[in-house]
Amino acid sequence: MSVHPLCFEPHPVLRAPARRVEAFTEELQQLARDMIETMYAHQGVGLAAPQIGWDIQVFVANPSQRRGREVVVVNPVLERAEGRASIVEGCLSVPNTWEKVGRAARIRLQAQDLNGQPIVLDAEGLMAIVLQHEFDHLQGRLFLDRLSWIRRVWVALKRTFTRVAASQPA
Ligand code: ZN
Repeated sequence: MSVHPLCFEPHPVLRAPARRVEAFTEELQQLARDMIETMYAHQGVGLAAPQIGWDIQVFVANPSQRRGREVVVVNPVLERAEGRASIVEGCLSVPNTWEKVGRAARIRLQAQDLNGQPIVLDAEGLMAIVLQHEFDHLQGRLFLDRLSWIRRVWVALKRTFTRVAASQPA
């Protein structure tokens, strides 16, 4: 198993809709194991394949952060979204940025597991938020896209100034 380097915004792989997985191979199983290791290495609660440069519809999630309780989701379709919820979110591909994002409170995803078998995920609470965040990654969407425009401008300015400050010699 290995930890993969992350792709950061504005990397184009984060902005392209990911391709459906057609072949449920040993390579896919290995990729999923690596994604879980990469998620833990960065203290994440979820990771989508585009975040490590693979434009395919796979993500892993584990809001409990307890090993062995990870879910691996392939080719998800959002079947139902109800209610409203929001928490402050961050993203491994958008460092040092935390913003409150409005989402559905309860969702249902139809998807496949690593063997291609159909699975249904009913989630609420933190799990529902994480699943929506990762699902968005597979559509080429980032949590920043769900902010109001004024908030997006603020975040863009802040990130620009953070970069400028970071590039100054100490
Ligand atoms: Zn993310």
